[in-house]
Amino acid sequence: MPDASPRADLLQPEPPAARPSLGPAGPAGRGSGIMKQPMPDTTRLQRALAIEAQHQYPNLRGNTQCFAEFVLDTLSALAREVPPRDREAIAPLTTAFARYEHLDPDLRARAVGDLAALLPRWQPKPRHRPEEPADWRDKPVQFVKGIGPALAALLGRLNIHTVDDLLRHYPRQHLDYKQRVRIGQLQAGTRATVWGTIQRVEAYNLPSAKALSIVTVTISDGSGTAIARWFGRKSNKPQLDRQKARFPLGATLLLSGEPKRDSFTGKLAFERPEVEVLGAADDEEGRSLHVGRVVPVYDLTEGLHAKTLRKAIRTALDNHLQLVRDSLPTGLRDHLLTGPEDKRVALIPLRKALETIHFPDQAEELATARIRLAFDELFWMQLGLTWRRRQLEAQTQALQLPPAGELVTRLRALLPFALTHAQERVFREIQADLAKPSPMNRLVQGDVGSGKTVVALLSLLVAVENGYQGALMAPTEILAEQHFAKLKEWVEALGLRVALLTGRQGRKERQVTLRAIAQHEVQLVVGTHALIQDQVTFARLGLVVIDEQHRFGVRQRATLREKGQNPEVLVMTATPIPRTLALTLHGDLDVSVIDELPPGRKPVATRWARTRRDQDEAWEAVRRELQAGRQCYVVYPLIDENEKLETVKAATAERERLATEVFPEFQVALLHGQMSGEEKDREIAKFRAGQSHVLVSTTVIEVGVDVPNASVMVIENAERFGLAQLHQLRGRVGRGAAQSYCYLFSSSRSETTAQRLGIMEATNDGFVVAEQDLALRGPGEFLGTRQSGLPDLKAADLVNDTLLLERAREAALLLLARDPDLSQHPLVKADMFRYFKANMAFLEVG
Ligand code: ADP
Ligand code: MG
Repeated sequence: MPDASPRADLLQPEPPAARPSLGPAGPAGRGSGIMKQPMPDTTRLQRALAIEAQHQYPNLRGNTQCFAEFVLDTLSALAREVPPRDREAIAPLTTAFARYEHLDPDLRARAVGDLAALLPRWQPKPRHRPEEPADWRDKPVQFVKGIGPALAALLGRLNIHTVDDLLRHYPRQHLDYKQRVRIGQLQAGTRATVWGTIQRVEAYNLPSAKALSIVTVTISDGSGTAIARWFGRKSNKPQLDRQKARFPLGATLLLSGEPKRDSFTGKLAFERPEVEVLGAADDEEGRSLHVGRVVPVYDLTEGLHAKTLRKAIRTALDNHLQLVRDSLPTGLRDHLLTGPEDKRVALIPLRKALETIHFPDQAEELATARIRLAFDELFWMQLGLTWRRRQLEAQTQALQLPPAGELVTRLRALLPFALTHAQERVFREIQADLAKPSPMNRLVQGDVGSGKTVVALLSLLVAVENGYQGALMAPTEILAEQHFAKLKEWVEALGLRVALLTGRQGRKERQVTLRAIAQHEVQLVVGTHALIQDQVTFARLGLVVIDEQHRFGVRQRATLREKGQNPEVLVMTATPIPRTLALTLHGDLDVSVIDELPPGRKPVATRWARTRRDQDEAWEAVRRELQAGRQCYVVYPLIDENEKLETVKAATAERERLATEVFPEFQVALLHGQMSGEEKDREIAKFRAGQSHVLVSTTVIEVGVDVPNASVMVIENAERFGLAQLHQLRGRVGRGAAQSYCYLFSSSRSETTAQRLGIMEATNDGFVVAEQDLALRGPGEFLGTRQSGLPDLKAADLVNDTLLLERAREAALLLLARDPDLSQHPLVKADMFRYFKANMAFLEVG
């Protein structure tokens, strides 16, 4: 993490305790009927006793142990499981068997006899078979016709445990025979899927010294022949034979990949293609399923053949499809057909969708089937999130802070600018929340420079007008101090007092501030998370605004509540999260977006400087800015903690170089995470005052630093930053009236770098950057490991299903508005719980 990132502990999801449980327990988990703690197996012990007795107690030796040792092991395992009363009986026996070797035969006989007499008491009760679960969907897959324990175990590896899991193991893709590419039409370098009859299979070790083996398979479909081949490690004969056996001659083999022209044979060859043996052509029974017109291709696991899985799913569908109940109310389905034409969603019946997603008649039907199944997932997810939030709200008492107006009006008059429409709208939304008796659950997103601070201040004033105190919490000391400096002016002009509270204040100063807060001498407090620490007691805290945080402040609220305070909490972030993800992760939140920049802002002209020449030109451009009286940031990436020192070294060396060689006529300063707070302050203050002109820095300047005269930024090794971070950094310039510039230095030649830096060059809109970043990296990586606990979506796609998600949310809200406890929709409710339980575990992790 960069050194000035928000504290990790502020980013954690809320602790599980704060959550209501989601309704009835529902059908118990898998294998509920099986007894809980199986006793150690006593059968073997019994047999051992019998044999030992038969042989007149010689302390028989088995493969690994002698008789007495075996008995002792079993006894100690038993002692852990049996009731205390029986443990007492075991103790003397343990002593006897420990000395068994030294005992006379009649004492041995007695010990064996005593133990044999006790044993029946610990016989495990006969295990009963798992009961039929109340809902057929929870039925373990073994109970599907044709699935035995071995296959069930393989399916388990794919996380398929129940019939429902099996039906919802959707195909990864389909192969459409109508779209079939004939081998004769294959083109080198173009991805394609072909299939044909296996003509020839070879597996041998290469004669060269390279210790490689090769497997080649030749197929033909009448229009031509194609080769597939795999290189592997040198293998022995049985291994090679096994490889060959995977490809029975005469069977139909499917190849998918990018063929290349083989320079020796002139034939088209697929290297390491995806393959599937579809079955021998004369396998009539298999034909319809496996070589039908549109064939499903599933994710498999080692040992599980495509055909087997296809058959299992076919059987599961045949036996259960008529049991499937479509819980989606027809009213909602009709509702989704209304609205502007491009927003309408037509949903086919659930049974049809389940059948079609696996075995469509036509490839064209797949899209509608997927939409239906995706909609359901998103609908249940949104329904569950909203439901949970309502429960939380019902439990929580919140302050009511109606707008009063006087202070807010006076501040507006003081401001040198008018609020943008977006700022006005968001402030209205916040006021409405504050006035309600339920707790505020709002996240304000606004691109860098969109003016969140003023909105925060206005909101805090509403609390003050209601006789409460307000607090503004920033992730770093630098930011807290900056906020404080900015607010002080305005707040004092209103006749109010504002205090600063950070971790690095002196003890004395801190004591004075703490007292002023406790005695309500100050109405507003700005600080780091020191604000909510133990020693801080507010006289009457009404609202906390948490700035620059990506995650909701439930944690902070919980901390505050523990201290006997229950203020409203508002969270602000400049890291735009694409709407689909925001709704997924924060579906239980209201999101306000300040989607407009103050007038007159010019987009930052952004250039990727790749070559040495580009970079020299960039420095010349920087010089022109400096000569015009502006300032420049130079930023170094810090990727992981281990590199901290190296980065500092690099930044220090670069400062040297810039100061002596490039810009000897200007002041070049240095800022990095290893400096003390005071040193950092001093450097930032100097830069802000214009005493230094170039600020070389590690990423400590990332969040929120505001020096409007800085008009140019150079980012070194730009390929090492995430897009969101690049955008944040760039937001440090372009804050004044002057045209600003951002130079991204990177000599990387990778495709991804080109794409990412290209996006930065193309747009200044944080939401566009975020959307593109999401599309490039996918949701899991986009959010990073810390937040990758996304719900499991099997049919829906968070990058592309925006419309579906929005309509699903709308439908969920509509339904809950009509039927708040879902008592009139028991099927929907059951489906929601089911989905929530299976897929939303991420909500439960602390
Ligand atoms: P951010 O949303 O990144 O936190 P700030 O609140 O720091 O943005 O605002 C950036 C700059 O824009 C500040 O100097 C602020 O005073 C100014 N500003 C805020 N709102 C407006 C507005 N409506 N018109 C003009 N300038 C504004
Ligand atoms: Mg800000």
